[in-house]
Amino acid sequence: MISAIRGTRDILPGEVERWQHLEAIARQVCERYGCAEVRTPVIEREELFEKGTGQATDIVQKEMYSFTDKGGERVTLRPEATPSLVRAYLEHNLEQAMGVPKIYSIGPMFRYERPQKGRYRQFHQLDVEVFGIKDPMVDADVIDLAWRLVQELGIQGVELIINSVGCRRCRPVFNAALLAALGDDLPRLCADCQRRAATNPLRIFDCKVPADQPIIDALPHSADYLCEECRTHFDAVRRHLQTLNIPFRPSHRLVRGLDYYTRTTFEILASSLGAQNALLGGGRYDGLVKELGGPDRVGIGFAAGLERLVLAMPEDAGVPTPLVVFVAAMGDAARDVALVLVRDLRRAGFRAEIDYEGRSIKAQFKRADRLGATHVLVLGDAELADGTVTIKDMRTGQQAPVRRQEVFALLKEAEGAA
Ligand SMILES: [Zn+2]
Ligand SMILES: [Zn+2]
Repeated sequence: MISAIRGTRDILPGEVERWQHLEAIARQVCERYGCAEVRTPVIEREELFEKGTGQATDIVQKEMYSFTDKGGERVTLRPEATPSLVRAYLEHNLEQAMGVPKIYSIGPMFRYERPQKGRYRQFHQLDVEVFGIKDPMVDADVIDLAWRLVQELGIQGVELIINSVGCRRCRPVFNAALLAALGDDLPRLCADCQRRAATNPLRIFDCKVPADQPIIDALPHSADYLCEECRTHFDAVRRHLQTLNIPFRPSHRLVRGLDYYTRTTFEILASSLGAQNALLGGGRYDGLVKELGGPDRVGIGFAAGLERLVLAMPEDAGVPTPLVVFVAAMGDAARDVALVLVRDLRRAGFRAEIDYEGRSIKAQFKRADRLGATHVLVLGDAELADGTVTIKDMRTGQQAPVRRQEVFALLKEAEGAA
């Protein structure tokens, strides 16, 4: 028997309904905010992520599914969506086509990480990206979209945290201040922090090693080292969030694990998820489009982990239509009528099922039970003779004959009551 690859999983009936619900809500919310869907390939040139995600990131250094294809080209299964969406935006000149390109994408990502609870090598993300707008109002609007999504999914106990990591001008000043503050403590930090100090000191704030925390807690905050423009921008983002009545907490340690972020960074956390509690995260990436060979255009977006959202959604989210109708038939003539009836029920929007094998009425009721049928419609010789059907409500055990064409109205009424 061949099993699924380590770190990958099947999403089966019973769970998949929650995914469908999540995806439907995500599409609705994105489209209400003016975002159009873009579907990019899961496979891209390796250099797209080396340049886009950044050479110094853990993703590019340790986690990419990269290989040489039969044509000798280096290719990668996408570890994140933003570089692909920037590529598509440039390749198809979406700026000309859309004015303000606002796009979203839903699909699988691939990272070769150590599999652990709730973390998979194939995982899924919703990505939202808006290009070309410098005004901080767009930061607040994108955060509002993310906040709305979480609300409409019914997720409780959520918190928005925000920060500003500065720009190309003020970041070097802050990095220098970080290194100066670290001073003699630097050699006492973990190996990852040593590497970060050399490549991107800001990312020391990502460190989770307990022994490093007292040193990291004493470091200066990026928000105190912003240039005039970055400070004005951050103030405006906070003001807009207040105007929108979105509660937030500034968090100086929120730097995000990617190299391309500038100015605003944000995350929405869910208290129910424990240590891995970020539902989604994002920020501005004002240099990325140019980095990938495009014009000097700014961008802002976020990525939401669908696995986490599914976990954080309420128990009853995505429960399918409450009624399941089973049509039980006895005798060949009745089976013919049942086949048409089950088709008509489905056309009318009901989940309806039938026995294919002409088994005993007892066996048919047993199957109805297994399917969780709320109603069984029985068709026998007597019902055929007078144009009725016996309807049994499986939840109460009550049964009664009804005229066949009245079944639909009756079930609609039961659906409304459920
Ligand atoms: Zn700045
Ligand atoms: Zn560390």
